[in-house]
Amino acid sequence: MELTDEEICMSDGDNKGNPYHAVAPPIYQTSLFTKPTFEAFAEDQVHENERHVYSRGTNPTVEVLEQKLASLERGEACKCFGSGMGAISSTWMTILRPGDHVLFLNHTYGPALQLIEHLSSFDISYTVWTKDSGRSMEDCIQRNTALIYMENPGTMKMEIIDIEKAAAIAKEHSITTMMDNTWATPLFQKPLTMGVDIVVHSLTKYIGGHSDVLGGAVIASRSFIKKLFFHGYQLFGSVLSAIEASMVIRGLRTLPLRMRNHESNAGQVISFLQTRSEVKAIHHPSVNDEASALVDQQFYGLSGLLSFELKDGGFENVARFINELSLFRIGTSWGGFESLVTSPIKPANEEGLLRQGFDPGLVRLSVGLEGALQQIQDLEGAFERTRHYV
Ligand SMILES: *Cc1c(COP(=O)(O)O)cnc(C)c1O
Repeated sequence: MELTDEEICMSDGDNKGNPYHAVAPPIYQTSLFTKPTFEAFAEDQVHENERHVYSRGTNPTVEVLEQKLASLERGEACKCFGSGMGAISSTWMTILRPGDHVLFLNHTYGPALQLIEHLSSFDISYTVWTKDSGRSMEDCIQRNTALIYMENPGTMKMEIIDIEKAAAIAKEHSITTMMDNTWATPLFQKPLTMGVDIVVHSLTKYIGGHSDVLGGAVIASRSFIKKLFFHGYQLFGSVLSAIEASMVIRGLRTLPLRMRNHESNAGQVISFLQTRSEVKAIHHPSVNDEASALVDQQFYGLSGLLSFELKDGGFENVARFINELSLFRIGTSWGGFESLVTSPIKPANEEGLLRQGFDPGLVRLSVGLEGALQQIQDLEGAFERTRHYV
């Protein structure tokens, strides 16, 4: 019988490697694995993606996590990495060749765009498509497009795309599709079931969930993960350690509970923001009327990362509002137990922000687990104390 997502999250892992049936999978804190004979060693080295030789290859603790993530995404195989960017960069280094073009859908994660910008010196070009581009997605495909890279939603403005349609267009043109599913987690969205080829995660956010570990993961077909293993993974060396894998396995055990709580708190925070005259717009799939049919179709639930626009934006006003918050702490990252606030705005950079399609009043909230009442009180206080300015 197929396991439910909850059962996958909470299981002990593979008991073949867990002889005492410990409820917490053992941490194999070792850099290498020895073999009884040199013949066995030579044989295992050839199949290093499936055998235990060296922990820059495989490690039994990391494998427990990989099996869980593959099952949750309904994928064949998974490889874990030392960070989300490790997962993204290693996958790109496996797929891309000089002369290739990458098409980005939605406002994707900033450092991923910085990386593709860096790759222009390796003769790799790119285009960013958003729904405000004034062109169709298909128009942005070039003869040399090798990869379509997307987030649904984008993690700054929460824009929604039609994943099945994007995947179908890509297939017609024989282009690989890759999706960053960090926002929704595999519990709330399963891109592989909608035709996407490769899913990537930052485990640092909801999946780890406690802001104490960095990690990344790639889930795809067995054949792609094998190729990734011997190229982008093993040779670039962005490895997840056994200890950190065990911390992420612990995070997974409460992921279903935490995600339901993030969803409920964010829903109440959004209802509150809707009552405030200082707020010009709210960005979250739950209030995206234009794409509500797609939202219903694509998500099993909605996470707690959202953004909104202050009517009177600009660096000073945004800073004044953010500085008045105390439960929402100021910092990058998101998806932990603690509520966080940030904004893409920098001093004297309104024009740059507008050019990227971001409003100068944009504030992003990661709604944590403290409770909606406390979160709303904090926001209300900040609105009241800055009332005379904004
Ligand atoms: C944080 C993040 C990443 C990168 O993950 P790291 O673990 O910080 O390297 C990638 N995508 C999204 C959407 C993220 O928020």
